[in-house]
Amino acid sequence: MSKPICIVCGTTGAGKSDLAVELAKKFETEVINADSMQVYRGFDTITNKISREEQKNVAHHLMSFLDYDQEYSVPNFERDARRIIHGLHAKGKIPILVGGTNYYLHSLLFDDSTLSSIDPPLPDKVKHPDEGILSYENTDLMLPYLQKVDPLMAERWHPRDVRKIRRSLEIYFHTGKRPSDIYKEQSSLRKSKLKYKTLLFWANAENDVLMPRLDARVDKMLQHGLLDEIQTMKSSIDKSGFTPDPTRGIWQCIGFKEFEPWFHNSSQETFQACLEKMKVSTKQYAKYQKKWILNRLLPLCVSEQKLRPSSILFSIANTTNLQNWNKEVTRSCDIFSCFFNDQTLPAMSEEEHRVSEKAEKVLQIQDKDTISTKFTCDVCLDKTGRSFVSIGKDAWQTHLQSRKHKMTIRRMKERATRHERIEAAKKAAMEKNMEID
Ligand SMILES: [Zn+2]
Repeated sequence: MSKPICIVCGTTGAGKSDLAVELAKKFETEVINADSMQVYRGFDTITNKISREEQKNVAHHLMSFLDYDQEYSVPNFERDARRIIHGLHAKGKIPILVGGTNYYLHSLLFDDSTLSSIDPPLPDKVKHPDEGILSYENTDLMLPYLQKVDPLMAERWHPRDVRKIRRSLEIYFHTGKRPSDIYKEQSSLRKSKLKYKTLLFWANAENDVLMPRLDARVDKMLQHGLLDEIQTMKSSIDKSGFTPDPTRGIWQCIGFKEFEPWFHNSSQETFQACLEKMKVSTKQYAKYQKKWILNRLLPLCVSEQKLRPSSILFSIANTTNLQNWNKEVTRSCDIFSCFFNDQTLPAMSEEEHRVSEKAEKVLQIQDKDTISTKFTCDVCLDKTGRSFVSIGKDAWQTHLQSRKHKMTIRRMKERATRHERIEAAKKAAMEKNMEID
């Protein structure tokens, strides 16, 4: 049986850090940070770190240990986290990982993440020289390219399905393998990719409560030295004279680039505009994180549950109404204890049912995408004058029943009969002529 691990994920402001601390206290274990910004030393406010008091003497690993001018990649995290997890297991403890960095959690929980059809795009990869064609909004260049490198895969997609064709090429560029080979491999080895016996908590608050909470959080950050931290970042850049890459390292953190204009113009209006921009970015990021959990992480859980039911479980700690906080913590502790002791679990909540059904649906669509075949209609044409194509049996059946298809057939028959009539008339006329002759 694989070793146990507990994950607490969720957006900023949803209470995941506090939940992790409560669990760690109750089960006498330690927390490992899985947030790519909180690995940096200093900048506690802008990176939303949990304070010393809030940590309640629970050890927090992989937090505040890296200098701001250093980079930390997914493989770095995986290596360091695994070492700590191993150490905690040796002490008989169940490690609790907390954080919202998707790549970190994904790489830690699942094997061969690069091959998954539902994985996030890969960061930090060497660029393929032809990757530029991925930026086109139509398939004019991408489709011929795919046809060349992976004809089987090109055959599978609708010729104008930009999203799928681009995705196939992305896989090809990033792995150097034909996507069709990868899918073949995957379907023949539909085996579990899970690395640990995993309990996953999602600390989740409804958007109508979460969004104002995030705004208030940004305001609070201002009172806790946000601008000082930004100033420090700014002057360290000025001193060393380098231009930070806003897509790398600490420079990605929300707040830094949003307040950039204020350093050039310190008027009140600029300040307000920057503040507003930071609030918008914070909320956008929260929405993106939620989507990732709903559309990628939970479907993967559901898919793993089918293969190894007792090896993975997800549970939602609803933090919409903070008056229920203690109740949610108690329930989570209950689930933790039952899951890792192989005891009967408490009943699923209404919300957990709903979310797991949704994950199931996402999974079905993704599976269908992977196995669907392409049908070409002999009679119908699409808008560009090419043969009409439909993807998947269901869509093909729908097409055969459609008005468009039936009309085309009727028109063809009419044309054929007209042609026959003309031919018959010609023949008759010819025969008549012959008679005259
Ligand atoms: Zn047709």
